[in-house]
Amino acid sequence: MDYLAREDEQVGAWLRREYRRQQENIELIASENITSPAVMAAVGSCLTNKYAEGYPGRRYYGGCEFVDEIETLAIDRAKALFGAEYANVQPHSGAQANLAAYAALMQPGDTLVGMDLAGGGHLTHGAAVNQSGKLYRAVSYGVDEKTGRIDYDRVEDIVRAARPRVLVAGASAYPRALDFKAFADIAHRHGALLLVDMAHIAGLVAGGQHESPMPYADVVTTTTHKTLRGPRGGVILAKEEWGRRIDSAVFPGMQGGPLLHVIAGKAVCFREAMEPAFRDYARRTVENAAALAEAMLAKGFDLVSGGTDNHLMLVDLRSHGITGRDLQERLDGLHITLNKNAIPGDPEKPAVTSGVRMGTPCVTTRGFDAADMVVIAQCIHRACRNEAADRAFILEAVAELTGRHPMEM
Ligand code: PLP
Repeated sequence: MDYLAREDEQVGAWLRREYRRQQENIELIASENITSPAVMAAVGSCLTNKYAEGYPGRRYYGGCEFVDEIETLAIDRAKALFGAEYANVQPHSGAQANLAAYAALMQPGDTLVGMDLAGGGHLTHGAAVNQSGKLYRAVSYGVDEKTGRIDYDRVEDIVRAARPRVLVAGASAYPRALDFKAFADIAHRHGALLLVDMAHIAGLVAGGQHESPMPYADVVTTTTHKTLRGPRGGVILAKEEWGRRIDSAVFPGMQGGPLLHVIAGKAVCFREAMEPAFRDYARRTVENAAALAEAMLAKGFDLVSGGTDNHLMLVDLRSHGITGRDLQERLDGLHITLNKNAIPGDPEKPAVTSGVRMGTPCVTTRGFDAADMVVIAQCIHRACRNEAADRAFILEAVAELTGRHPMEM
């Protein structure tokens, strides 16, 4: 950071401020994490200089003998970590992993069934504004508005009627465990392929805290930067039979040169995720989410589905008379970061929302424990009331917690 600040004063100064923001804030965005210094070293390395279109041993450029080894390591480690027959570690992001996987499995105009945004699905699961909703005939399922959970009978009715080529399971804001066997049975009973997007829960799968989709899904996509705690990027895992089609859908179908510095970071992250310490991390992430959910309920908040099985929860703020947008903005000023999030059947516009999403991947990486979750719930509760004494309490509590659990870098 000091070097950058000397070389480029402006970028260096903003980077320093962002570093301080991360150090001094309680980060509750469920899709974020804090990578290890080893992952950071890989991503900030000379590998960013290298062009390597193609795949290990089949490149369109010279000088790839060392990056071939790195990409091969990343592939082998991804396969070992998740028990996959095939892995492609080149997708630049989760969105690109999904679009490449669709391109491998479908023709434009084919039908895709995925979870809608309101129920917690991702844009790439068939939203009209996304390529997945433009290239394919997208039909969606949601969650039951009363229970906040997926109704698998309802999913089957939708699949039966839509007759999709691909059924997508996976979400960005679903606090409950996903039943991959139920999804696979539905897809396969109706002649569809099952794609599981495990972006949010990949670290929990790797750490044994969520069932693995690998035995059930035809193709699995993921990001590497959420609970898995690696660099920003995507991965596609599959049965061997899909390998050739996925490889060509990623390159040359979707992307040019792979980001070897990021692929090196992915390789480091996969090795870290095989360590016993990572299993412990995944367990603590889920335990902290359960403790936070319990503390929020004790403070009188409503949670969609009544709680959580994973690393995140959705808070329904309607009984507290504040919108998701207003609480997010208020907490920004109090050094607590989270995001507004629609709740099932939300009467507010998507830019406003009646809820917020909260997750524990970052705070758990920093070493926060269950007692700290009680303090966080207290802070969120006092932020809704927002008297001067509440703001002073929150700022002091956040400073104490972040000071006690510094971010390692
Ligand atoms: N899939 C799911 C379930 C996600 O939650 C996200 C991101 O939030 C993505 C895919 C897309 O990942 P990226 O932002 O890397 O494109």
